[in-house]
Amino acid sequence: MPKEAQSKNIDDLIIDFSRFYILTMLYEKPAHGYSIISQFKKRVKKEISPSLVYPFLQLLEEKGLVTHSKKPVGEKERKIFQLTDEGRELCTGLFKRFAELVAIAIEPSLYVCAHCGCKVYEGGYREVIESKEMAFCCMHCARSYKEVKKLVRQSK
Ligand SMILES: [Zn+2]
Repeated sequence: MPKEAQSKNIDDLIIDFSRFYILTMLYEKPAHGYSIISQFKKRVKKEISPSLVYPFLQLLEEKGLVTHSKKPVGEKERKIFQLTDEGRELCTGLFKRFAELVAIAIEPSLYVCAHCGCKVYEGGYREVIESKEMAFCCMHCARSYKEVKKLVRQSK
């Protein structure tokens, strides 16, 4: 892929992420364009262009996903944007899809507790049992695992 096309793709991707992020901010609470821009910068540590934010808000409004009301903020009157019910519904759908993607991405780093079978995202507990390293969610599961093993052995 030529370099130019590649960086254009990355730009597209970031723009999509920016839009997605604008939606999550509106999902959190109603906001005016300027606060979206400043919150974005603060949280994502990246500038977002007003020429992306305002037309996007307008597009959302045209599609009935967002409405606005005018409220005085400081000395100026600003448009406060707020998701409509349809907008919230769209967001819930997006979040669900996004959560599934993230789950796929982190799944390989998960392990399953040898005792209770729960998925362990981080931390967990490891112990060498009968010269084999076993993974558990916690030391209590490790203890129960050893007890069960002992019982099985005794009943033989
Ligand atoms: Zn467990």
